[in-house]
Amino acid sequence: MDYNLKYIYKMPFTCVLCNEETCYLSNFCDDCQVIKRITNCYGKVEVKEILKEVCLRNKKQQTYKINGIIKSKNELNEEIKGLKKI
Ligand SMILES: [Zn+2]
Repeated sequence: MDYNLKYIYKMPFTCVLCNEETCYLSNFCDDCQVIKRITNCYGKVEVKEILKEVCLRNKKQQTYKINGIIKSKNELNEEIKGLKKI
């Protein structure tokens, strides 16, 4: 996209990620800024794979996936606690 067209496109001062929130001082709204920081930490490919694996499901499937992740995280924490006692 030509630079001038890109500038004109951004004139309404909307978030460049969600295109919903108004942003005057940043390209991203507060929520999308958090998403951007996470993407900076893990890389866009990793974040894209996580979103595809977790979010491209119906609500019931998402709940099963999230509960499975929480359960395995809790089991890992219990294992760590057990190792600390040794
Ligand atoms: Zn946004």
